[in-house]
Amino acid sequence: MSSTLAYAAQNAQSPLAPHVIERRAVGPNDVAIDILYCGVCHSDLHTARNEWKNTLYPSVPGHEIVGRVSAVGSNVKQFKVGDIAGVGCMVDSCQHCASCGESLEQYCENGFTGTYNGPVFGGENTFGGYSQHIVVDQRFVLQIRHSADQLAAVAPLLCAGITTYSPLRQWKVGPGQKVGIVGLGGLGHMGVKIAAAMGAHVVLFTTSPNKREDALRLGASEVVVSKNAEEMAAHAISFDFILNTVAAPHDLNPFLNLLKRDATLCLVGAPDSPHPATDVFGLIFKRRRIAGSLIGGIAETQEMLDFCAQHNIVSDIEMIAMQDINQAYERMLKSDVKYRFVIDMASLQA
Ligand code: NAP
Ligand code: ZN
Repeated sequence: MSSTLAYAAQNAQSPLAPHVIERRAVGPNDVAIDILYCGVCHSDLHTARNEWKNTLYPSVPGHEIVGRVSAVGSNVKQFKVGDIAGVGCMVDSCQHCASCGESLEQYCENGFTGTYNGPVFGGENTFGGYSQHIVVDQRFVLQIRHSADQLAAVAPLLCAGITTYSPLRQWKVGPGQKVGIVGLGGLGHMGVKIAAAMGAHVVLFTTSPNKREDALRLGASEVVVSKNAEEMAAHAISFDFILNTVAAPHDLNPFLNLLKRDATLCLVGAPDSPHPATDVFGLIFKRRRIAGSLIGGIAETQEMLDFCAQHNIVSDIEMIAMQDINQAYERMLKSDVKYRFVIDMASLQA
């Protein structure tokens, strides 16, 4: 065991503050990582504030981790001391159910172990990347092939990148398709970049008219202000696929009406209360679908990292010190982030 300095919420109301946690000793299959950077996902905020009603305290969020390997167990062959490595949203799964057998650990039928707040159904709590150091089974550690100067901006790929890449791949997004991304936040801006790199015609839906220029720069071909009914109507029945990343409950029907026959609206945003009822007739008259998608498996996360390295895709980030996290959460709630906060973990030593 080793003591590690972290930032934790002690309950749903408390701001995050310094807190010492214990990391396990490095076992034969483990990789120990000194954390360099950790992205700030909206799920961190949902969890720290118990918005999903399943938080174990103390809660140390953070599942967009990039760091340097400081030790490896005797069975570890893929990593050596000094390597740069990544850790995303999961640190373990049962490894014997059908989903794990298909490299879909995120759908582990026995419940994967989250990088933080897992396992939620009894057992020990896990502590995430808002910390100096982490020890992870080698099967859940990712290779980073981006250049050394990109590492901070790579961190958000470990959640925001894979959560958008996986459904875009699942629904076979590519050239000749019109694809919508709803919400230009951490996930949304990665969705725009990745869908554009896959060759789709990307339309970004935003509630923030001032993000129009940025969306075009990031790779969108068109931008629609979703509160403007006329702008929305101009795209009726024209989309092959829409990916919704919004973190708050909102009316899905205006987006469903933009889908072609047989097309899918996929939800990845995870608000703390349900969206208003969907229009059943809008679904049945065009055989439209509403789906959901959860992060991505480890093999697919590596595929996404390699795809992004090949296409020179990283996140657009604002670097913060660990001490700024509570202020960053408030700004995230106001959609005031371009487009992902990343914590420089060197600040935690201060
Ligand atoms: P974020 O950076 O806060 O972005 C969310 C975006 O949603 C905002 O930038 C804003 O975009 C839009 N938005 C916010 N409030 C809205 C409202 N009331 N009505 C309409 N649009 C609104 O959050 P994130 O880190 O990308 O995460 C987004 C959601 O995905 C969170 O709920 C998170 O927990 C969830 N998530 C799910 C998975 C998964 O596996 N499914 C993985 C990671 C995160 P505009 O200003 O452009 O409108
Ligand atoms: Zn996340």
